[in-house]
Amino acid sequence: THFGFETVPESEKASRVYKVFENVAQKYDVMNDAMSLGIHRLWKDSLLHAMHPQPGARLLDVAGGTGDIAFRFLEYVRFQQERRAARSMQTSSWQDISNSDSTENEDEPQESRAVVCDINKEMLKVGKQKADSMGISTAGLSWVVGDAEELPFDDNQFDIYTIAFGIRNVTHIDQALEEALRVLKPGGRFMCLEFSKVTNPVLARLYDAYSFQMIPVLGEVIAGDWKSYQYLVESIRKFPDQEEFRHMIEDAGFCCVQYSNFTGGMVALHSGFKL
Ligand code: SAM
Repeated sequence: THFGFETVPESEKASRVYKVFENVAQKYDVMNDAMSLGIHRLWKDSLLHAMHPQPGARLLDVAGGTGDIAFRFLEYVRFQQERRAARSMQTSSWQDISNSDSTENEDEPQESRAVVCDINKEMLKVGKQKADSMGISTAGLSWVVGDAEELPFDDNQFDIYTIAFGIRNVTHIDQALEEALRVLKPGGRFMCLEFSKVTNPVLARLYDAYSFQMIPVLGEVIAGDWKSYQYLVESIRKFPDQEEFRHMIEDAGFCCVQYSNFTGGMVALHSGFKL
């Protein structure tokens, strides 16, 4: 079957991808919920649970689009901070009772920061509007236009690098992985959420049928854009499977690379560390 994108030469991929996300930006969040029946929210929550960020952590979310990962990150660290504050209040009341030395400074809250970086300013614009309407504080959050293959950041800046449903859109994945390694601090963690290969053959057939037949239709009905959603399905099919991608991350120089499957392998979370 010829869908029009499969034959796109490498040199044109980036501009095609740009057009796709420029077209879908306004409807992007609605479409995500419609296509995944809301399950993308659980996949993103699972990424945060696996990350378990601590107050003070600096996150770079590449291909961050409308900000879902950064918002969850800030919410998660705020929750951790509140827990710490509650614990330190408990501790200090015990210290009052026992009259022992204070260790208050250990629990001083540190500021966490999240940077959302995306090549598409339309996606970022929708993200900023969403932050405003959700009442998310702009403190600790910034939006930067930039290419995953050539990140506009200095070396050794971030504790965590995330890329969710973004890396398959990048033309040179090895280049993006190299950049991830560069901007992470030593000891920093790389985490990638991406569509992957469904492991159960029965589920795989159902999923294939659903994605090829339903997703472009939903794209046409909700966003008036069949082609962009055809691209989406094709890009998922072409992306390397779990093991192949794990090797690519190792080849880029990350260590302790591992992955876990969500929803039968529909999505995989790969992670690794910079030493
Ligand atoms: N991470 C968000 C999420 O999970 O909802 C958005 C994912 S969206 C499917 C893919 C994003 O990748 C788009 O916002 C697109 O603009 C961005 N993108 C594509 N190529 C990129 C590149 N080379 N560098 C940075 N971002 C890119």
